[in-house]
Amino acid sequence: MSAKIIDGVAIAQKLQQEIASQIKDLTSKGLRAPGLAVIIVGENAASKIYVNKKRKMCLELGIISKDYNLPDNLAESELLKLIADLNKDYTIDGILVQLPLPKHIDSNKILEYILPDKDVDGFNPYNIGKLSLGRSALRPCTPKGILTLLQSTGVDLKGMNAVVIGASNIVGKPMAMELINARSTVTVCRSTTRDLPAIARQADIVIAATGVAEMVKGDWIKQGAIVIDVGINRLPNGELVGDVDFEQAKEVAGWITPVPGGVGPMTVATLMENTLYAATVLHSLV
Ligand code: NAD
Repeated sequence: MSAKIIDGVAIAQKLQQEIASQIKDLTSKGLRAPGLAVIIVGENAASKIYVNKKRKMCLELGIISKDYNLPDNLAESELLKLIADLNKDYTIDGILVQLPLPKHIDSNKILEYILPDKDVDGFNPYNIGKLSLGRSALRPCTPKGILTLLQSTGVDLKGMNAVVIGASNIVGKPMAMELINARSTVTVCRSTTRDLPAIARQADIVIAATGVAEMVKGDWIKQGAIVIDVGINRLPNGELVGDVDFEQAKEVAGWITPVPGGVGPMTVATLMENTLYAATVLHSLV
């Protein structure tokens, strides 16, 4: 059996078209376009690539992107001051601080400082709390985007056994919350989990988010399962691979996301969706 591919590029493009059309409606009514502040501190090469993708997408969809490229030695107090200014700026609907930050800056302090209604990454404890209560708010982009991918299969998530491999604050834990809210039965695994392959084999849905290249093998996967690969790993030969051994897994799974072209494009599109949501619902730009 060969799995159906969940085409993240096509699903993201459809979402982007809807967002662009809603922004056109706003501006044709004489309203301002949504605004997103994108902040990067230091010279992390991967972060620069991600940030450039986000800025380019803003441009394509009609979101005003205010860009801040700040030096590695920026004082924490200066970053807090910038966020305080952006929190007050009524033309800014979303504030994104690209992680990781340099070691001398406390990321938790920074993320908590962003106003919850401008926290388009959904990492502020207030928004994480609302997600855990299943109440509408700004939700972390990668897990929310994955939910959109899962829904695109048309499979009813209710009562499904979902196994999330990885328990980080930005992917694994909010992913588990999304699936709980979708009324799946959820198991969260991490590096301390015993007999992970046996647990994964029980899953109707496997979400792999570990950062370990191709660790999820074909014989970990139940026939027909949905496999979502969040990982982005660069092999020594330059090839980009996920956390799932794609060639093996696609022979067993019912549905699978490729890397690249699966979760990545949805994360960026969902950031745009969150920015529009902040502008229109939270900031009443309608
Ligand atoms: P992280 O390092 O913060 O967390 C990794 C988690 O995986 C931890 O909970 C750890 O316990 C678990 N883990 C590590 N090794 C394991 C093993 N051998 N068995 C079981 N569990 C193991 O990473 P993260 O920020 O959650 O990111 C995970 C991956 O997803 C990375 O490859 C990252 O680049 C990628 N990512 C992709 C997107 C996207 O948009 N596609 C977004 C965010 C992260």
